[in-house]
Amino acid sequence: MRNVVLLGSTGSIGTSAIKVAEDLRDRLRLVGLGAGNNVELLVEQARKHRPGMVSVADPRKAARVSETLGPGVRVLSGPEGLVQLATLPEADVVLIAIVGTAGLQPALAAIRAGKDIAVASKEILVMAGQIVMNEARKHGVRVLTVDSEHSAIFQCLDGKPSTSVRKLWLTASGGPFRKTPKADFETITVDRALKHPSWVMGKKITIDSSTLFNKGLEMIEARWLFGIEMERVGVVVHPQSVVHSMVEFVDGSILAQLSTPDMCLPIQYALTYPDRAPSERVRTDLARLGTLTFEEPDEDRFPALTLARRAGERGGTFGAVLNAANEIAVEAFIEGRIPFTGIAETVRAVMELHAGVAEPDLNQILAADQWARTQARRITGVSLCATRPFP
Ligand code: NDP
Repeated sequence: MRNVVLLGSTGSIGTSAIKVAEDLRDRLRLVGLGAGNNVELLVEQARKHRPGMVSVADPRKAARVSETLGPGVRVLSGPEGLVQLATLPEADVVLIAIVGTAGLQPALAAIRAGKDIAVASKEILVMAGQIVMNEARKHGVRVLTVDSEHSAIFQCLDGKPSTSVRKLWLTASGGPFRKTPKADFETITVDRALKHPSWVMGKKITIDSSTLFNKGLEMIEARWLFGIEMERVGVVVHPQSVVHSMVEFVDGSILAQLSTPDMCLPIQYALTYPDRAPSERVRTDLARLGTLTFEEPDEDRFPALTLARRAGERGGTFGAVLNAANEIAVEAFIEGRIPFTGIAETVRAVMELHAGVAEPDLNQILAADQWARTQARRITGVSLCATRPFP
């Protein structure tokens, strides 16, 4: 039996993780649940799974949740609540599925308390991958990945060192605008960007998938998770989303991991690793799928890939800056303040302004994150990006 703390239980990954825990009741026990503002769903989940501790983002809602759940469940709130959940003595693994960077402090706290972490929140590895991985090594804990691409690479690598790798290949569905001409990008609406062809996910990651910033963030995530340089992380567009990613080894052999797309699979693998638990949830009929295709990504229409590669190569605080600027630009796009193309333009403008710190500590990373948010707010607020075309 593995005791699991789930941060972000009310989100897309969180609710899939709950399904996995329900499928594997004899292996996984939910001992702590952390949510943002959806207290109704959190209460429903807590009633069903009876964790000893839950946490909500807003302290004003904690008292109501506590009253509803009764004395058996301790109710905490705010960032401190997430840290307390992440360090719960009985927890074996902490799954971090909070959108954005709010999962970073709980992830570090969990590692320092000797817990394995399972990371869905790629933003925390993009921002502070070096620190997270160093801390994990120091405390002898595992950083397991829940992102389907990284789970695929982890499975294909199967413990092989980076010296046996020629290249890691992240597959990208290409998003809803794979075939949209560049001239039409300026007029892409939020509704269109929110229609992903193969995955149902939270709003922020769905927009990131349409700009390919999601893939850019994943390139940097892979760089830290697998301890490999950026030039050995490639992207190939694979619209069917069946090959979740691949490893090309130094002898020319390529291993891939395949299945019909379902996030329950990488979540389950992270929570049961190194075991494979039987599950009927995912079945892949290759004959019915028929054709699997691959194509080169178009970095002219999707500059996110170029920007992410640049941020990954420069390292230091650049990952945090790319991530924070993107988060603010996505918000501005959703609120109708900038056009679709303005997202990459904003990120590029903020990166150009950034001086960078080569070997940053956590405080310097957090400062760079705040600095980039301020710059991105300034740029998107005055809509500078709408008048500056991306080269
Ligand atoms: P959602 O928007 O669906 O869910 C986000 C979760 O985070 C919700 O439970 C939300 O709570 C919670 N949350 C937000 N802010 C806070 C906070 N300050 N304190 C506590 N909880 C908070 O996102 P997804 O599930 O899609 O994505 C989560 C992470 O996983 C992201 O980093 C994403 O990049 C990554 N990921 C997602 C994939 C997917 O298929 N969805 C695939 C791979 C990675 P509430 O709803 O209660 O407000």
